[in-house]
Amino acid sequence: MVAIAMEPQLTPAAALPGEDWAVGRLELPGGVLDSRGQCFKSVIVRQLTGRDEELLADRRYRNAAQQVSEFLAHVLVEVPGLNKPVSKELVSEMLIGDRDYLLLRLRQICLGDQVEQVMRCPASACGRKADVEFLISELPVRRVKAVQPLYEFDLSEPLRKDDSKSGHVALRLPTGLDLEAIMDCKDVNPAMANTKLFARIVKKLGREGLSEAAARELPLRTRHEITDFLRKITPGPELKIEIQCPHCGVDMSYPFDLYGFFLPNG
Ligand SMILES: [Zn+2]
Repeated sequence: MVAIAMEPQLTPAAALPGEDWAVGRLELPGGVLDSRGQCFKSVIVRQLTGRDEELLADRRYRNAAQQVSEFLAHVLVEVPGLNKPVSKELVSEMLIGDRDYLLLRLRQICLGDQVEQVMRCPASACGRKADVEFLISELPVRRVKAVQPLYEFDLSEPLRKDDSKSGHVALRLPTGLDLEAIMDCKDVNPAMANTKLFARIVKKLGREGLSEAAARELPLRTRHEITDFLRKITPGPELKIEIQCPHCGVDMSYPFDLYGFFLPNG
């Protein structure tokens, strides 16, 4: 048994108004922006075939984010109203949360709502196995009305005392392309992945852009504030599965691995 923490601004990933699987229409939690900043939320996907399953199960891909881009470019039929055909580039430019949402819904539609996994308790004194069961429709999804090209906020304190503008941040939401770029160091060194991500998405910090070297020199508190802000504004499914070990009660919450999801042992 698993208790999933629900936050009020989140809606479960069950069928939504506007979604219609009969015609493959899904509503992105964020949306795709066109060059003029207009946000498109409806997408049309097609039924998965064995070929799609093969593409996802192919272990020759070095980078799971690239693999997902390739997969979604095959599955996504169109973004109605958007003056752009579906391509790997378009899918790479989609928000990470939107891509996750599509994977989640496709999994739910094709393989069912129920997920069963066996996890091992991390406590060294216990280490026993626990069965985890949950429904995809129980996973909360954070939705926004429309995605903005840029989001702005002020750090709790300016970076330089003599410049009140030095704490002003303007950033964009991370995309599949950002994930592709940081994927290789994400598992090895998550802090370095954050540094690379900040340099890509922070368009302005104070009066300038943010280089990778400058992102590395930022105070930890500043980096945490940027991460917190991102977490608050990012649309998409909440993938943290909250669970206690049924044997010893220790917290064994874990992030649900969407990328291993379609695989036989996922
Ligand atoms: Zn335990």
